[in-house]
Amino acid sequence: MENKVPDLFGSMVFHEHVMKERLPKSTYKTMCKVMQEGKRLDKEVADIVANAMKDWAVEKGVTHFTHWFQPMTGITAEKHDSFIAPAGDGQVIMEFSGKELIQGEPDASSFPNGGLRATFEARGYTAWDPTSFAFIKDDTLCIPTAFYSYGGQALDKKTPLLRSMEAFNKQAMRIIRLLGDTETSRVNTTVGSEQEYFLIDKDVYLKRKDLVYCGRTLYGAKPPKGQELDDHYFGAIKPRVKAFMHDLNEELWKLGILAKTEHNEVAPAQHELAPVFTTVNIACDHNQVTMELMKKVADRHGLVCLLHEKPFDGVNGSGKHNNWSISTDKGANLLEPGDSPAENTRFLLFLVALIKAVDEYQDMLRLSVASAGNDHRLGANEAPPAIVSMFVGEDLQAVLDSIESGVEYAGKDREMMKVGVHVLPRFFKDTTDRNRTSPFAFTGNKFEFRMLGSAVSIACPNFILNTIVAEELSLLADELETAEDFTTAANELIRKTVIEHKRIIFNGNNYADEWVVEAEKRGLLNLKTTVDVMPYYLKEKNIATFTKHRVLTKEEIHSRYEILVENYIKVIHIEALTMLEIAKKNILPGVSAYVKELAETITLKKQISSAINCRSEEGLLISLSDMCADFVDKQKALEEALAMAKNFQDEQIVAEHYKDAVIPAMVALRAVADAMEEQVSEKYWPFPTYGELLFSVS
Ligand code: ADP
Ligand code: MG
Repeated sequence: MENKVPDLFGSMVFHEHVMKERLPKSTYKTMCKVMQEGKRLDKEVADIVANAMKDWAVEKGVTHFTHWFQPMTGITAEKHDSFIAPAGDGQVIMEFSGKELIQGEPDASSFPNGGLRATFEARGYTAWDPTSFAFIKDDTLCIPTAFYSYGGQALDKKTPLLRSMEAFNKQAMRIIRLLGDTETSRVNTTVGSEQEYFLIDKDVYLKRKDLVYCGRTLYGAKPPKGQELDDHYFGAIKPRVKAFMHDLNEELWKLGILAKTEHNEVAPAQHELAPVFTTVNIACDHNQVTMELMKKVADRHGLVCLLHEKPFDGVNGSGKHNNWSISTDKGANLLEPGDSPAENTRFLLFLVALIKAVDEYQDMLRLSVASAGNDHRLGANEAPPAIVSMFVGEDLQAVLDSIESGVEYAGKDREMMKVGVHVLPRFFKDTTDRNRTSPFAFTGNKFEFRMLGSAVSIACPNFILNTIVAEELSLLADELETAEDFTTAANELIRKTVIEHKRIIFNGNNYADEWVVEAEKRGLLNLKTTVDVMPYYLKEKNIATFTKHRVLTKEEIHSRYEILVENYIKVIHIEALTMLEIAKKNILPGVSAYVKELAETITLKKQISSAINCRSEEGLLISLSDMCADFVDKQKALEEALAMAKNFQDEQIVAEHYKDAVIPAMVALRAVADAMEEQVSEKYWPFPTYGELLFSVS
């Protein structure tokens, strides 16, 4: 197997190597330019590329192609067309034109559009993103595309990401040129996203309506054993899981996805996969495909892959760690401190831009990871809190302190940092100082944004990150371009930014209660839920930044806000309905049957002899009967809370009602069910328990 990997890798991708082999030299050259610079392709070139793609795909048994896009549902969409074209004599030929490659026209009416469609036609367009390679999935040639409306408004996750890459490149290049670098011609952000997930047995899964409808359990008493022994993290991988991972890796490798690391996570049945990092839009495409394949491959193994942020209460939820850095076409990592004073200045300029961005756009970063599912994670004692802050580590902190104070700093091994010239001590580059509790942590030459939920597309956090840093870079460049002396001005700006934005840096334990108090003192935002953060989308300051860099128009921002609100409401609504259905159709009948058995047992016992002790049955009978009555009251309360939601018009108010009235009613209903579960015989409990779910895979 090992020896096959290089052959297998990328075998289903129309990548650069294939293009070089199959395209005429001049077309290949044009394509390279297009791929590097994200330029549009003209019709003739597109025809040649399309034909070569089709021939390559047909040789691999492919009959269909699809424009593969990423609507606002957060998952991907595809509509397949076959290559066949009538040849006139009752026969067909296989055809694929440049036009079909470049543009498609799926009906946009059934995708979330947040009101954008009301003003435009129903028609939507997909346009090829030549910076991401076409690939073959399920015997279909998939063309990665952006999806937008008739009026050119983005209806997807990819478009703003591509636009943010342009904005970032433009502003970063201004700084690069100011630093005297005339070689670099492109700056991209790079991402490696570690993906967490749960694997459970499919038979067990199918017996849980909550998992089937909502992706998370809505009921379930704590099992005797959870994650408290810490015996799962990095533990030996079970054979069925190993077989799944093996198969998944092969599928991913065929698609050129650099699946690299796999291990067990903290919770029972929880695992993680990390790829090698790549350019952000490709990382995003790859993460979408990875999530899709995780589900498909799991199914082949009689397993179900749960990507929900919090499938189980009481054990860790799943997130995604978005490792983010900046790289040039010459291979330099701009968050790498470097060796020379010039590289050090470059590092510090990009670093302070990032510090300022995170501080000034805490709201947007929090927003970028907001979803009903992720609300269960953020702020709980397992994931970063809802407060956005940044970790730089002890050593880099000392460097920043010394920049601020103007006092030269002697490092641990007495390496000096000359203030003003920015000769950074070497030691801190390699410090593998780790702070697992920070939402945004410096890890040597990249930042790890840890607030992302496991289920969502990484497009949104990354286009937001790209844009807010582009904005800060543009402000730095504005000042530096007019400065008399670059070095003096740069040093002054670095110092000023550190002083003004140091409040966002926190190197301590983010899970501690004291941090919440301290953060409030510092004036940092603590937006606990999606509902709290949603209105920040529409803040003037945020609209100004996103429109300035042409990442989103005002209308697009409004539509995204609406989609977020609607989605939140729908998710909670479906969960509430699912809870009610399970309560009425499964839990209550199950408990009643058990109560009946208890009552019959008591009667039988008493028939035999009134002297027989019935205390245990009677105790249970009374207790369960009381709980059932309480359970029915809690159901009614939930139904009332749901009905009340219809009284509100404004969607923000509706969402608040779901947060403040519906969710608490769900929690109350669940509490009674979980208490009953602990008392009811296994035979009568209507679905598999937490223990059975979490330990279902051998
Ligand atoms: P961990 O966070 O588990 O300690 P690592 O620090 O080794 O693991 O890396 C985690 C992820 O960071 C990997 O996906 C890796 O490819 C990614 N990564 C490493 N360097 C960069 C970079 N320059 N830009 C973006 N991601 C990176
Ligand atoms: Mg990590």
